[in-house]
Amino acid sequence: MTRLNFTTDTQRQALARSKGICECHLIPHVFKVFCGLPLGNANTFFEHIDPDGLRKDNSLSNCAVLTRTCWKFKTHRFDQPVVARAKRISDKHNGVKDPWRQQLPGGRDSFLKKKINGRVVIRATGERA
Ligand SMILES: [Zn+2]
Repeated sequence: MTRLNFTTDTQRQALARSKGICECHLIPHVFKVFCGLPLGNANTFFEHIDPDGLRKDNSLSNCAVLTRTCWKFKTHRFDQPVVARAKRISDKHNGVKDPWRQQLPGGRDSFLKKKINGRVVIRATGERA
C-alpha cells in the first residue's frame, strides 16, 4: 500500500487557513489542551486528522497544520496505536494468521493442548497425544 501525501495545493490552502498558528484545535478528540503556538520554519507539519492508515483521505478537511510537538504527540500517542489495533481486528476478521504462531507447541493455534492436570491431548478430539 502506498502512502499518499497532501498535494501542494491542499498544503497551501491549509497553511492559509491556519493563519500561522498550530491547528491542534481541529482535532479535539486527541488534544485536550490547545497549544496555540506559531508555526515556523522546519516546525510545520501537515497531518492527516483521520490517520492515513485508516482512511485514505487527502482532502483539505482531513488536513491539519501542526507544530512538531503536536505532530509528534498525535503520531505516537494516537495514530500508531489506533492503526495497529485496526490492523489486528481486520486480520482476525479475515483469518490472516502468523504461520509462526501455529508452530508454537501448546500455543492457542497448535493442534496439541496441555490440560491443567498436565496431560497433553489432541485439541480437536481430546484424545491423549
Ligand atoms: Zn498545537
